Amino acid sequence: MAIEREIAGIRCGEVLAELSDYLDGELAPERRAQVDGHLQGCDVCERFGSGFSAALRAIRQSGLGPTGDEPAVYERLRARLDRAVRERGPD
Ligand SMILES: [Zn+2]
Repeated sequence: MAIEREIAGIRCGEVLAELSDYLDGELAPERRAQVDGHLQGCDVCERFGSGFSAALRAIRQSGLGPTGDEPAVYERLRARLDRAVRERGPD
C-alpha cells in the first residue's frame, strides 16, 4: 500500500515524520499549515494522526511524556511511529 500522496505541498511520509513535533507545537507556522492542510485532505494521515495524537494525549495526561518521569514510553511511541512510516512507504 503506497500512501506517499502529496497534498498541500507535503507528502504523507513527511507528515508522519513531523507529527510529534506538530503535536508539540514545535513546527514553524508555515510547516504547521502544510501539515494541517495535508491532514484535512488525506484520510490515511488523518486517521493515523488522530490515533497517534490520542495516544500522545493519554500519555501526557498520565504524567508521562518527554517532560515526565518516563520519557522511555514517549520514545517507544516515537520509535513505533518511525517504524510505521517505514513500513507504510511505497511498495
Ligand atoms: Zn497523507
